[in-house]
Amino acid sequence: MIDKNGVAAEAVLAEIRALRAADRPTHGGRLFAYVYDPAVPGLDELASAAHRESAHVNGLDPTAFPSLLAMENALVGAAATVLGGGPGTGAPDVVGSVTSGGTESLILAVKTARDARPEVTEPRIVVPSSAHAAFAKAAHYLRVEMDVVPVSTDTLRPDPAAMAAAIRPETVLVACSAPSYAHGVVDPVAEIAAAAAAAGVRCHVDACFGGWTLPYLRRLGQPVPAFDFAVPGVTSISVDLHKYAYAPKGVSVLLHRTAALRAPQYFAYADWPGYTMINPTIASTRSGGPIAAAYATLRHLGDEGYLRLTSLTRDAVAGLADAVRGVDGLRLMAEPESTVVCFTATEGGPDLFVLVDELTARGWHTQPQLSYAGLPASVHLTVTAAVAPRVAEFGPDLADAVVAARAAGPVRLPPELAALAGALTPDALTPELVAGLAAGLGMGAEPAAGAGPDGGSAGGPLPERMALVNTLLDAAPPALRERLLVEFVGLLQRPAW
Ligand SMILES: *Cc1c(COP(=O)(O)O)cnc(C)c1O
Repeated sequence: MIDKNGVAAEAVLAEIRALRAADRPTHGGRLFAYVYDPAVPGLDELASAAHRESAHVNGLDPTAFPSLLAMENALVGAAATVLGGGPGTGAPDVVGSVTSGGTESLILAVKTARDARPEVTEPRIVVPSSAHAAFAKAAHYLRVEMDVVPVSTDTLRPDPAAMAAAIRPETVLVACSAPSYAHGVVDPVAEIAAAAAAAGVRCHVDACFGGWTLPYLRRLGQPVPAFDFAVPGVTSISVDLHKYAYAPKGVSVLLHRTAALRAPQYFAYADWPGYTMINPTIASTRSGGPIAAAYATLRHLGDEGYLRLTSLTRDAVAGLADAVRGVDGLRLMAEPESTVVCFTATEGGPDLFVLVDELTARGWHTQPQLSYAGLPASVHLTVTAAVAPRVAEFGPDLADAVVAARAAGPVRLPPELAALAGALTPDALTPELVAGLAAGLGMGAEPAAGAGPDGGSAGGPLPERMALVNTLLDAAPPALRERLLVEFVGLLQRPAW
């Protein structure tokens, strides 16, 4: 890696480009997760140039780099305005911080709520089962207990009365989603926030995914329930600018209704001989690059730009949903109300994990979701503006992929794997068992180990067809899924010598 005399700039870039060739396509409207592409000509170049301007600026100290303070304040002001706060609204005193992503925003929302109640020795949060996994991560990191309220298998939303009933004296935060990532449905925010307020508990709305589109969808005439600072009782909201604000990765905003509510978010430390540290976020040294890139993106696209991009996205969602409705054997998990299309198989329909592989083979990269607590396995599509010109091609390919998946039939786990998935407990997993499982699934750190029973790979560490892996995971309870994934990813993450 560290070449004796260093490698010429062009050659290094060529190496990176060669590595990138194995990645899923970040542009072109055929990848329905991970990336958010507006397909606006010149925007990538602008964001890169802005990133370059500020890459070496350090957010550690806003007094040393006022440029970053100014851009952060502008981003927070913009987010607050989109989400029903600011001058002339019912939430004129909104403040916020720029974080590195949705997960950091949620960890900080939980930390702030926890630290606002220092007298609670065993703090708890109430979340619907559809809440993003980052809440569980926050609870785990911060030693906060989670009370999880199941969502209805029909509406995919939690019952507000059940959310209210889950609030205890130790509850420091109640959270809900607008919308949920998995299914794209908006929780009953008004009722949940009212219940939280009645109990004197903070209420966080996780609008990481939809915070930048729901307000524009509403302006386009789509019915969107109140979910932002217009709702009394909502004390904080998160929105990811690296999702539907179309900024490059590394930027989210956490908003609080008032500065007093935000106060416990800060960490200050003066009890050492170095500089006095005062951080609003988890990271201390922070690159100005993502913040400048987000600033440039928001300034350049503007309000009309976001309205137009949301309109394109809405049309793409409608077209994709129609494509799903038009295929026998599939059904929508929910009528789309945001920018997610999520579908499952009907009785006698195709095996969804095989279908996902068939779609991948046709150049459509979707996201399989495992069955969970009475909800069937499903396929998730995050839809962005770049999908709009592709929609007409999707329907025929989906129909074709369903035919192929039906012809292939469901994945049959080799009996020994099925027995393992059903019987194994996470504690019983030994390194040998994991290595055996990984080999059986066609996974391996070495290219030579990549030929699995389900087709094998052309030399990468992962099998080309993932149906077998997904079927195994689907057969396992959540705790075993977690453990298997930790082990598998641990196998992939090995130093290159
Ligand atoms: C993406 C997402 C998150 C987590 O955001 P990251 O930026 O991936 O850390 C949290 N909540 C919701 C609803 C999301 O969609």
